[in-house]
Amino acid sequence: MLLAKKKDIEESLPAFWYTHILYKQNHLKLSERLYKQVEKLFRHVFPKQIIPDKGTLKLLEQIYPSLNLSKVHFFDGLPWFIGDAYVSGIAMPGTYNTDKVHIYLKKYNPRTQGGLAIIVHELFHALQYQDLYKAKGIGLMRLFIVHYLSNYIRLYFKYLRQYGHHNANRLAYEFHPMEIPAFQQEHAFLYLLKTAKGVQPEDIKWGNCVCDTSGYKNPAGKGWLLLGWIIASLMMLAKPFVEIFFLFLAGILSVFSFIFRVIGL
Ligand SMILES: [Zn+2]
Repeated sequence: MLLAKKKDIEESLPAFWYTHILYKQNHLKLSERLYKQVEKLFRHVFPKQIIPDKGTLKLLEQIYPSLNLSKVHFFDGLPWFIGDAYVSGIAMPGTYNTDKVHIYLKKYNPRTQGGLAIIVHELFHALQYQDLYKAKGIGLMRLFIVHYLSNYIRLYFKYLRQYGHHNANRLAYEFHPMEIPAFQQEHAFLYLLKTAKGVQPEDIKWGNCVCDTSGYKNPAGKGWLLLGWIIASLMMLAKPFVEIFFLFLAGILSVFSFIFRVIGL
């Protein structure tokens, strides 16, 4: 009960308020606690980049031979704008570059079947990014995002009346024309992985699992595409400002942390 209460507080309060509560509870130095919260806030905005090991890279190159992996960056942790606890991974454009795709994973774990399957699923989206105008654009404004948003909104409104908000969200995701092949790829990968018992993943012959995005046809009409384009543009413009604000806040808190340390708190 106490744990649940503590967790509730942790999730509902901004980091700097929670710091004060932790300080009182744990009798640790305020400067140390504050510094930890600054780190946490920073990592929430900029998750830690991961360089996959050679075995994982070899495996991914075999499954996606046409994908330029040098344009794909991996991160351990979801970014701040993904608040859904059920999201285990997401492929987003890099905010401060023009042709990179960032794969954010709630938990980067290529040593488990589930962890690898999530990476394979998200890399299918990276392939979709690449095949739609070579993933090029400014920040969040990429053709993939326009197609994804327009189809998601189109499907959401298609199901909303009949099934309600929660189910319409789920159905828009499950029947999304860019998600269906990604899930097929994920399931084909897991099937091969489970049938090749005792063989290291990077040594499996992945012929049946190698596929491309050539079957994709965008079903959203021009009106939906325009809506997707407008939302993607607004996101592209707003995201850097929100992140600058977060960095500003982290900067102020780190200055306080330094002052507290100097005066021995
Ligand atoms: Zn997906």
